[in-house]
Amino acid sequence: MTSRVLLLPGDGIGPDVVEQARRVLTRVDNIHRLDLTFEQALMGGSAIDGEGSPYPNSTRALARDSDAILLGAVGGPKWDALPAAHRPERGLLAIRSDLDLFCNLRPAILFPELASASSLHSHLVAGLDILIVRELTGGIYFGEPRGVQLTEDGTREGFNTDRYEESEIRRIGRLAFDAAQKRDGRLCSVDKANVLEVTMLWREVMQELSADYPDVELSHMYVDNAAMQLVKEPKQFDVVVTGNLFGDILSDIAAMLTGSIGMLPSASLNADSKGLYEPVHGSAPDIAGQDLANPLATILSAAMLCRYSLSNSVAADHIERAVASVLSHGFRTGDIVGTDGGASVMGTTAMGDAVIAALDENQ
Ligand code: NAD
Repeated sequence: MTSRVLLLPGDGIGPDVVEQARRVLTRVDNIHRLDLTFEQALMGGSAIDGEGSPYPNSTRALARDSDAILLGAVGGPKWDALPAAHRPERGLLAIRSDLDLFCNLRPAILFPELASASSLHSHLVAGLDILIVRELTGGIYFGEPRGVQLTEDGTREGFNTDRYEESEIRRIGRLAFDAAQKRDGRLCSVDKANVLEVTMLWREVMQELSADYPDVELSHMYVDNAAMQLVKEPKQFDVVVTGNLFGDILSDIAAMLTGSIGMLPSASLNADSKGLYEPVHGSAPDIAGQDLANPLATILSAAMLCRYSLSNSVAADHIERAVASVLSHGFRTGDIVGTDGGASVMGTTAMGDAVIAALDENQ
């Protein structure tokens, strides 16, 4: 059966890295007969320039019809002066909400070869393997009312609303418990239940769910402590589940533990396993179009696409093995050179070539 993959390169380095992931997927398609078809559409700033909206109707129609979506990144200084409601990043919020992509999976795995590129001591991070499960379509990023308004005394006030329905907490909780069951059996739910009512409910629902998962050890942690523990003793975590805002911040902390934001993939899934796959990093305008971007986060996102939306873990494992092999041969983009010496520094396209060669060697 044909699977339709929609490519949304976006802005900045997005097109640089998506092109390498497309080449890798094409090679994997040839080897594993995935029967993929690729389509491409505008997203973010380039969509504002081309069609007047960060998530235009033409892109929405293709996204709804596709089986999986691979996105580069959106945004850049060119669009920074636009009002918030018209910025490229609104396109991301719109597609997540349109496709009901409520579950964001962000693995933070440290390839042994990159331990020296981490900002922490190698012994704290060697072998790190955390999965952060972030709720993506609720919480304060979507809650109403929101806005900036004039108060009675003529000064401005800004406000947002952090809101979760019980059902929203339950469905992300189930996915996190399921994920923990398939891993080390430990789930840490992160909240701020000592201050925020919405997260008191979050904690209660997680606790209720745990009755259905006697094989998973559930713990709770306040978000400020979780941020501290992530840099103090990160290997204590297996699966972390949290809301939209806390997940945004904690997953970026986890990103730095692994040495480079250029190495981290992500998946955002809906209830039918349709997914939007994207690197954790942004559009890196400082290096866009210069053949400097690390494409591995996007290539690893393509591996997640094979695993979660195509249900093909053989193809996913093959891509992940190829990336590990490339690193073990000492191939590096500039952002992951680290201090280990002896690395062979290469550009975006050459890294894509290296992964494709490794796919052929490691069949
Ligand atoms: P960024 O992730 O784009 O860049 C941060 C730093 O990391 C930069 O020095 C950049 O050169 C480097 N970097 C990022 N990805 C890299 C890669 N693949 N290879 C090598 N180096 C890499 O974050 P930022 O600078 O805060 O944001 C830049 C733009 O991206 C902004 O417009 C922001 O809104 C947008 N953004 C988009 C997304 C997204 O599309 N999901 C996420 C974050 C930021």
